[in-house]
Amino acid sequence: MSLPALTPAAELAMVRTKYPDGLWCTSPEPCEHRLIATTAAGWSKSWAGLPEHERQARREAYVCAECRQAAAERERVAQIRREQAAAARAVAAQKRRDAAAVGLQPVGSDAARRTRMNSGEFDQVNVTARPAGPRRGGRPQEHVGDLAQRRAAADRAAAYRARKKAEQAQRNDALLNGEAAA
Ligand SMILES: [Zn+2]
Repeated sequence: MSLPALTPAAELAMVRTKYPDGLWCTSPEPCEHRLIATTAAGWSKSWAGLPEHERQARREAYVCAECRQAAAERERVAQIRREQAAAARAVAAQKRRDAAAVGLQPVGSDAARRTRMNSGEFDQVNVTARPAGPRRGGRPQEHVGDLAQRRAAADRAAAYRARKKAEQAQRNDALLNGEAAA
């Protein structure tokens, strides 16, 4: 019949009582080698250069290498979990802010851009697109007139974007001020 497993604290208390001059692993976690030395001679070389009270203090705080390693690993995992939890909280907080700001369209947001593009206002603005119409074979030919037109269109588009951005910023400010006043 096997004895019921002792808690780490009970196990430590037991070896302390049984081997009062020994050396034990004082980890609060389960330890495979709780009893390190049964007599003072067994650990006489440990911390040999230190004064006796200092040696006793070290003995009272001794944790075996395996338990130290296990504790370091637990701390490493806990640190990763804390970081993950903090990241998740940051995402959740951002989502709450986004939800609270319904009606506030971020300046230069995708939604704002799509709205403008769908309006068809800038069909001519894509400066990288090939000019419409039938193409001849051979090297594409760049016409100075086309280029100038497209540059002008791009300038108009940039001005429009700047204007819309300023308007959106104003709307956001107004909404935020309204919120603050409410
Ligand atoms: Zn240990």
